[in-house]
Amino acid sequence: MIAIDGPSGVGKSTISQALAQRTGCRYIDTGAMYRALALLARKREVSVDDAAGLAGLAREMRIGFTVTDGAPTVMLNGEDVTPALRLPGVSEEASRLSRFPEVRRVLVEKQRELGGRGNVVMEGRDIGTVVLPEADVKVFLDAEPEERAKRRYLQWKEKGIEVAQEQLAREILTRDRRDRTRKVAPLAPAPDAVLIDTTNLDPGQVLDRIVALLPGKGRGKAPKA
Ligand code: C5P
Repeated sequence: MIAIDGPSGVGKSTISQALAQRTGCRYIDTGAMYRALALLARKREVSVDDAAGLAGLAREMRIGFTVTDGAPTVMLNGEDVTPALRLPGVSEEASRLSRFPEVRRVLVEKQRELGGRGNVVMEGRDIGTVVLPEADVKVFLDAEPEERAKRRYLQWKEKGIEVAQEQLAREILTRDRRDRTRKVAPLAPAPDAVLIDTTNLDPGQVLDRIVALLPGKGRGKAPKA
């Protein structure tokens, strides 16, 4: 079980997907579950401030992670929602609804069902602290806010979408503040997590550092008997 946590735009998805490929583990993106709930709430016209309504939707939502032509795919109630999860506004709505304890309780239970069998790389904000506290390897990625905004800017640009870097920086800071200061499961490294500052590292270098932590590489925890 490998837990990868960290703030927005730090490169969690890139690193976690590459790590899953390298280790043959399944890849579970828990942020996609909060985003999928935001999409479902839009569709059913449930407000992102209606905690009970959102928890009800979270209970009924069926979420699946598969791979299509080598790319991770997220299924929501049988429908491929992968591109829709990145629509404008979805990040903000996901972050707002993720502050409710009743919503988190339902999604954390689903995440434990998905990850509890092991052989998994799971990324999010509270994987090492709450979802899989028994994970074999815990990594907390961080980077300077300007660098994270720049990475997000380049990701959008690659998709042909021009968004002002300052606007992305503001959005990232707002979301981070909310994620770090919420009462339940705030974004924070687990006491036994390895912190990696990726500001001056490329994805290959980050990956090498994590691989060096894996059991069997001499520096990770021993595999469970
Ligand atoms: O990782 P991603 O940017 O897709 O996550 C979207 C939002 O979902 C985050 O800003 C955060 O508020 C929430 N989230 C969370 N706990 C997780 C994963 C994501 O609260 N484990």
